[in-house]
Amino acid sequence: MAEANKEGRFSSLASRFKKSDKPLHVRPPYNEDESLFSICVECIDKPCVEACEESIIRLDGDKIPFLNFETSGCTFCEECAKVCPHDVLVLNNKQFIKAKFSIDISSCLAWNGVMCSSCKDVCYEDAISFLGVFRPTIDMSICTGCGFCYGVCPPYSVKYEVYPS
Ligand code: SF4
Ligand code: SF4
Ligand code: SF4
Repeated sequence: MAEANKEGRFSSLASRFKKSDKPLHVRPPYNEDESLFSICVECIDKPCVEACEESIIRLDGDKIPFLNFETSGCTFCEECAKVCPHDVLVLNNKQFIKAKFSIDISSCLAWNGVMCSSCKDVCYEDAISFLGVFRPTIDMSICTGCGFCYGVCPPYSVKYEVYPS
């Protein structure tokens, strides 16, 4: 593909598919009862935010932590749970992030004739499989919801929603 055409295609896809405008409140791992996050409002120092080695824990408008996958993903380092003073995050709970990931085939480069494996390259779990070098899909029986694939996708074709929605 000619360089100019390729750039045009990338910018055209990127302009059509922006990251979601509305906040997606995927909460940190090590929590099994979503309702417990209401306690976070009373947690003055919010130590989980500082403890996160990937700096993906942010606070929503209600000062409740959520995961922002724009720049990185969760390594399940356990640090947020170790410092949580109110047992909202507890190490004994599963390392489960309640997010369901998928690939938008209408905008994904590899679904539209352009070689790209950015999502697969960062997936520690090898949860993304290609048909040859095209048509990637995410196997949600393997995916941990870590979010590393989200920010690296050039046209923002990796989507996620709170699970169960
Ligand atoms: S487990 Fe580690 S990387 Fe994941 S959200 Fe908690 S502190 Fe951040
Ligand atoms: S440390 Fe625990 S209680 Fe405090 S904001 Fe984070 S998750 Fe909530
Ligand atoms: S497919 Fe799932 S496990 Fe792989 S990087 Fe994306 S969110 Fe993480």
